[in-house]
Amino acid sequence: MDKKELLERVSADGVKFISYQFTDVVGSVKSVDSPVERLRETLDRGVWFDGSSVEGFTRIQESDMHLRIDPDTYAVLPWSPPEFRRARVICDIYSPDGEPFAGDPRGLLKRKLEEVRKNGYSFMLGPQPEFFLFRHNDSNSINPVPHDVGGYFDFSPCDKAIRVRTELMSALSNMGLQVELGHHEVALGQHEIDFKYDEALRAADNVLTLKYTVKAIAAQHNLIASFMPKPVSGIFGSGMHVHQSLLNEKNENIFFDAKNEFKLSTKANEFIAGQLKHARALSAIVSPSVNSYKRLVPGKEAPVYIGWAQTNRSALIRIPRYTPGMHQETRIEFRLPDPSCNPYLAFAAILAAGMDGINSKLTVPNPLNNINIYDLTAKERAKMKIGSLPGSLGEALSELEKSTFLKSVMGEYLFEAYLRAKWAEWNDYQMHVTDWEVNRYLEIA
Ligand code: GLU
Ligand code: MG
Repeated sequence: MDKKELLERVSADGVKFISYQFTDVVGSVKSVDSPVERLRETLDRGVWFDGSSVEGFTRIQESDMHLRIDPDTYAVLPWSPPEFRRARVICDIYSPDGEPFAGDPRGLLKRKLEEVRKNGYSFMLGPQPEFFLFRHNDSNSINPVPHDVGGYFDFSPCDKAIRVRTELMSALSNMGLQVELGHHEVALGQHEIDFKYDEALRAADNVLTLKYTVKAIAAQHNLIASFMPKPVSGIFGSGMHVHQSLLNEKNENIFFDAKNEFKLSTKANEFIAGQLKHARALSAIVSPSVNSYKRLVPGKEAPVYIGWAQTNRSALIRIPRYTPGMHQETRIEFRLPDPSCNPYLAFAAILAAGMDGINSKLTVPNPLNNINIYDLTAKERAKMKIGSLPGSLGEALSELEKSTFLKSVMGEYLFEAYLRAKWAEWNDYQMHVTDWEVNRYLEIA
């Protein structure tokens, strides 16, 4: 969409305010708002803001940052009332000298996509964010109480969650996402809404859109939507698996090979090998919170060990079953990410890891088909050379810190800023005494 078209759309939609959005390093959505009358000027001149107040951005002495609108991301926020109709545009961040800002996660993903495009590839992604809907217990406390009675794919005609989910799917379609599937997930109160795969930049924009739309619509129903990876102990957590494929210039899926047992090409195998190789360091980016590691435990369809397989949900990488004739759909499902990640950083990092596999022609280990990896003993895993994912954010951050590969992928600025923010989070957690510890040790110690 060009500037003229954007101005026409805004006026036809009766928009009164525009939210200029971007994310900080850890993936929180930031927004600068202004009345629609300023849009024409903003399209020419951008928006200035104080970068020093944003996590991972600039130092105080070089605080001026500049947002440039990506007009293709225009979407009206369907929950805004007509008299204050609001639209959002997602922006790229520039430094005062007019250069793309090295600390902008969206900018990083754009650069990585440009690099693979030079080799003739487009990176296509279908993220699958899972989330919980909770209810307020009373006006002062927010207790994570699942409010419905469903289980995986359950249909119940009077389930409140189904009504909310239908509304969510319709709001997301109005915002330009091609919603494909909404269903109840395994746990009480847990849901998933999938949208059509798209080029990775658009897919990352869609993840942001989905998260805040789900939260806004849930709030209208007095519910709380949470993308926290493990909000309730003992039950399933929420992942955000990503289905990945690479297209060539003729739009052919290069992961497909009719002659291979699993219909996977050599490049697909190399791509898998690259992601397995870098999995431990990637973990700090795609499973980036203290709570992420409460999800990555055995028996809950989340990965714990480093291996790949066809269809097997206990593996880190899963190859969904091939449907004859649908070779365009051949894809590699990476199951480590959860929805608390910054999707721009996460997608840039997993792309780079996969491409490293292709560029270095890595050999993929044997697939772990028909094996419940959770049931293997440590000895069996060692014999089969199956490594483990980090068990905590601290362990994952140490892996990331050691990864010269991811440092060069992210660039020093973003790498350091990310590690700074995440170590602070980890150290804060380490100093906190949890309820579990008090219950466990107070009296017996
Ligand atoms: N909720 C599971 C996870 O944490 C995944 C369930 C599924 O395979 O959809 O990854
Ligand atoms: Mg799921």
